Amino acid sequence: MHHLYIHVPFCQRRCSYCDFSIAVRKQIPARDFVDVILKEAGGHALNDLDTIYFGGGTPSLLPPAAIELLLRTTHPSLRSGQAHVRRTDVEVTVEANPEDVTVEHAKAWREAGINRVSLGAQSFDDNVLKWMHRSHDAAQTHRAVQALRDAGIENISLDLIFGLPEELNRDWDKDLELALALRTTHLSLYGLTVEPRTPLDRWISRGATHAPDEDRYAEEYLTAHKRLSAVGYQFYEVSNASLPGYRSRHNSAYWSGRPYVGLGPAAHSFDGRTRRWNLRAWEAYRRAVAEGRSAVESEETLTEEQRGLEAVYLGLRSSDGIAVGTGSIRAVPGWLEVRDGRLKCTPEGWLRLDSLVTHDSSTH
Ligand code: SF4
Repeated sequence: MHHLYIHVPFCQRRCSYCDFSIAVRKQIPARDFVDVILKEAGGHALNDLDTIYFGGGTPSLLPPAAIELLLRTTHPSLRSGQAHVRRTDVEVTVEANPEDVTVEHAKAWREAGINRVSLGAQSFDDNVLKWMHRSHDAAQTHRAVQALRDAGIENISLDLIFGLPEELNRDWDKDLELALALRTTHLSLYGLTVEPRTPLDRWISRGATHAPDEDRYAEEYLTAHKRLSAVGYQFYEVSNASLPGYRSRHNSAYWSGRPYVGLGPAAHSFDGRTRRWNLRAWEAYRRAVAEGRSAVESEETLTEEQRGLEAVYLGLRSSDGIAVGTGSIRAVPGWLEVRDGRLKCTPEGWLRLDSLVTHDSSTH
């Protein structure tokens, strides 16, 4: 089984907290993008795909016909008109910004083979969304979920960000309530982090806002854990919860150390031993592929020890935990428990995971 990631680097503007590899464009060079992705894809064996994931950036800015062409070429059995027949075989996700989701787009995505959509909702508070530089409002998130359901796409994930600076007066309980009322199959919750050279970093440096507060971060994470668990969601990874049967197969592949192929600028690939990553900037990547050069910027082959340490770290991030006796773990009462012969993090343990794993300086 193989897993394919396609990085679509375009965004219409940069969100205040974002340091991803993106190219801000008013007009998306969809034709050039499809050409170079297909050219890069030609260098990989992409048979027997289990999952395909369009991430970004903002993949929903691509015209549906471009997504359809990419899917038809990388996975011929998803060809238009037959997608519904195969929809349970291959998990095909597109990340979307709510304002891009119309019923027409959603129908075209479904026809092309998309059967899972991850919506960047982030919050249902319009003031917070403005502060984040998001280009949608809460009403558009509601409309997007409805449009996807009207088009027959039921497997929907919402991204939410918690741990925002206090002065925003963000009501996390209310946001959770509104998200839960939509009863999407999946929720991803990310704590706000301050990355260098982002607008948020600059606002903090000049005292225009405060850095996120650690206590607030912890409190909101644990609140979310309690509220989601109470209504049937299962946290299967630190930041991800789903209704039964709706875990992201694609992301689970990353977390269990399975091989994957990444196409596009900044995309990573992993063959089980070696991790390779592509040139970050869109133009540099495009030129390299168009001129027949490798898109790979660099690579790293993991030692046995690094692979072991990574397996411990990723195992502890997941609800499966790790087999007792694996790796070197510093036990912390209340944070780690043994269940079914496996060592697993409690919600408090997940919150403080980084301090649970014994780092060995030789691995860095
Ligand atoms: S839409 Fe996503 S990738 Fe684009 S700027 Fe915002 S957070 Fe970054």
